[in-house]
Amino acid sequence: LLIGLITCGVLCSGALGFSRIPQIGLVWVGVLGAANIATLLCSPRPHDTTVALAMVGYLLVLAKDMLVSSRGFVRRCEAEFEAERQSHMVSLMLSEFEGSSQDWFWETDAQGRLTHASPRLCEVVRLPHDALLGRSLTEVLALLPTPDADRERQSALQTLTQRLQGRKPFRDLVVPLPVGTERHWWSMGARPLLDTHGTVQGWRGLGTDVTALRRHEQELRRLAHTDNLTGQASRHGFQQRLRGHLAQPDLPPFALLMVDLDSFKELNDAHGHAIGDALLQAVAQRLAGAVPQDAMLARLGGDEFAVVSPQEITVAAAECLGHQLLEVLRQPFQIGMVQVEVRASLGLALAPMHGQDDVALLRAADMALYAAKAAGRDRLHLYDHATGQRAQHRALLTRELTQALALEQFVLDYQLVFDANTGKPTGAEALLRWAHPRLGRLAPGEFIELAEESGLITTIGTWVLRSACSEAVHWPAHLRVAVNLSVRQLRDAQIVRDVQQILTDTGLPAARLELEITESALADETQARTQLSGLNALGVRLALDDFGTGYSSLSYLQRFRFDRLKIDRSFVLPLRQPDNVQQVALVKAVIDMAAALQLRCTAEGIEDDAQAEALRRLGCDELQGFQLGRPMEATQLRHHLVSA
Ligand code: C2E
Ligand code: CA
Ligand code: CA
Repeated sequence: LLIGLITCGVLCSGALGFSRIPQIGLVWVGVLGAANIATLLCSPRPHDTTVALAMVGYLLVLAKDMLVSSRGFVRRCEAEFEAERQSHMVSLMLSEFEGSSQDWFWETDAQGRLTHASPRLCEVVRLPHDALLGRSLTEVLALLPTPDADRERQSALQTLTQRLQGRKPFRDLVVPLPVGTERHWWSMGARPLLDTHGTVQGWRGLGTDVTALRRHEQELRRLAHTDNLTGQASRHGFQQRLRGHLAQPDLPPFALLMVDLDSFKELNDAHGHAIGDALLQAVAQRLAGAVPQDAMLARLGGDEFAVVSPQEITVAAAECLGHQLLEVLRQPFQIGMVQVEVRASLGLALAPMHGQDDVALLRAADMALYAAKAAGRDRLHLYDHATGQRAQHRALLTRELTQALALEQFVLDYQLVFDANTGKPTGAEALLRWAHPRLGRLAPGEFIELAEESGLITTIGTWVLRSACSEAVHWPAHLRVAVNLSVRQLRDAQIVRDVQQILTDTGLPAARLELEITESALADETQARTQLSGLNALGVRLALDDFGTGYSSLSYLQRFRFDRLKIDRSFVLPLRQPDNVQQVALVKAVIDMAAALQLRCTAEGIEDDAQAEALRRLGCDELQGFQLGRPMEATQLRHHLVSA
């Protein structure tokens, strides 16, 4: 039994000892086991065969255990090797990274003291590695001197301290730090090192230099806030600054002035875009020179500028500032070889009376600007309650106007035009009316401008043309129909094709249609010229309406081929007194000039016999006015023509 026990022990310890080299272990167990079994089998005692069998079982179990433990050992070794290799790789990469990169690693212990810092961090904070160890990260970062109290850095470091006192990983915490004389920004990120109980044992983190990205962002922001052409604030930048200003508590009343050049589009068309751009730059410069030092100036877009005078201001002082701005713009501008004169309109609103927030305030100033334009331009308008109400009324009317055509609310009246000598009708002018469900019958003066502004005039104008032509085919063949054409319609290249189509559809001969165009439509010359010659080619007649109310009337007559000239009512009105010699001479000059240019001449707005008589005497060809015939409905006109 003793020998058996010793053998088993020797077998077992050998198997254990050799388990790391299983081949030798197997030989050991095999040789000793076989010798043991052979001895037992040779034994004469009856139980030894059973013991030999048990020994075989024991040997098998031992061999299996040895193999299993050997495999486990090999796997552990492999894992250890792999871990070592990886840690070697990581430290290699890390030192490579720390040596070449702008970024830096750091590690702290449970007390927040630095246990590792990249050389780059030492460089940034200008301290040797050993001096860093044992200090907290925020303490080290706060050591760097700044020229003045750097609030941004203080608050960033405060946040960093708070984060490091917590236990949540964080990233993208930007801390500004000076590097040499420059300001750099570092984005910090870190994870807590937790032990098996979840207790924070320290932090490991990375600081990345994001200065280039930050500068790029700042540049983008600057571009979004600045107007490229003038270098002043853009609408976006202005609105943001205004919002910031309005957010201050206990704000004293201040002024917002909106300035818009009066005929910039015409100037731009006449002199070209290069001059237009240079003019805008010069305007911005003059305004900048004329506003108070702390004022915000911006170009809101196109030829629209805005000024905020942030100091406490009275209404009178704000108006005075507005008039000053208009005055500096009145001085002629010398742009290269060209001398340009501009006028501007100005809308004035005061905060907080006219608007509590930036949107309301800008809208108030915008409405005031619109009112200044509507009142004849080259002036200042202070926002008041009525301005707001008018703007609301206009907005409502514009909305209703979009539906008016579909709801068949438009009608045409016709006003006859007479031959001055025979007194017989030569045609009629179609005049648009809007049968408004709430406001009654509206004259064109009350809505045409809205239709032009909203662009609805194109569709409304086409309707007028079609209705007037289909009506005129029922009149005696010698009568013309005159239709008023708006500026917007004449800008649209489609107009020539539309007129042609309408003439074809209605069967009205082109010569019986006369299109009346006001002088203002011709300011945009190049476009108008193409459209006018297109209409001319169709055989349609053209009349220059409201002659004498625009400027440079004569030049238009030279440049465009008109058939008729309509002398405005304002020229005809003074002829009520036949002894008004000056006025008579003026009208005579116009009529003579028309004759010299081979234009027919119609005088409008004749309200009494004296005017009619004077015009007849002066040689005017045709007459139109309430005295001779008021505008009437289409059916009424047909009756009139039949009975006449
Ligand atoms: P307009 O082309 O000068 O038309 C003549 C205007 O003078 C008409 O006013 C007419 O009713 C008015 N009138 C005629 N005789 C007399 C008179 O003896 N005394 C006075 N005080 N006024 C007289 P209405 O119909 O209000 O039209 C105003 C303006 O609206 C027109 O001026 C024309 O420029 C524009 N308009 C009218 N219909 C249309 C249209 O279909 N399309 C466009 N684009 N404009 C139109
Ligand atoms: Ca007219
Ligand atoms: Ca007219």
